[in-house]
Amino acid sequence: MPILAAAAPDEASGIVTNVVDGDTFDLRIDKTDPRIIYEIERVRLADVDSPEMSTPEGEPAKVFATDTLLGQRVWLDIDNTSGDGRDPYNRLLAVVYLEDLNGTINTSHPFNRMLVDAGFAVVKNFTNNEFDPAAWWGNATTEPEPDEVNETATTTTEGQFVGSTKSDKYHYPSCRWAEKILPENEIWFASSEEARAAGYIPCGVCNPP
Ligand SMILES: [Zn+2]
Repeated sequence: MPILAAAAPDEASGIVTNVVDGDTFDLRIDKTDPRIIYEIERVRLADVDSPEMSTPEGEPAKVFATDTLLGQRVWLDIDNTSGDGRDPYNRLLAVVYLEDLNGTINTSHPFNRMLVDAGFAVVKNFTNNEFDPAAWWGNATTEPEPDEVNETATTTTEGQFVGSTKSDKYHYPSCRWAEKILPENEIWFASSEEARAAGYIPCGVCNPP
């Protein structure tokens, strides 16, 4: 698991006023940066892709982002590769951090990663921005809920994992995200090696080997 800290998680901040989809939202700026030009800026998460709203998976991703972000103060590490920090659609390209309850920036678990951990986005290591997922991923270990641990221990047959043909994650069958996979999209692996060889990566929630 990457453990490097992000470079500059405090370049700008604001309150999320609108969620467009899983990886895009609007921010009313309160701490500004020379690259900020609007009172409300549209922000696109760097290095992750969430399903489009035109697909069945789009709405649940938007709901997750709304539940997590709407009305919250977030902090931006804006892409330094271009002069204006923006993508071709004039959105600020950023790694997005939430605040802890005591008001400090939570750099151990950026929203970009939360979205991936929750199964609502996949990591895309774009080479045309400053970011490397290994640098922004953070160092928090995902702690499974107690009932998931028990289910994993008692119901999982060793060496059997499930993924979705619509995603690139593989899971213990007892994982709450595995349970959401439609039967017609299920793909089964006899081992983690087999899953990885097929291009799948471990779910961050159930943490299969
Ligand atoms: Zn899982």
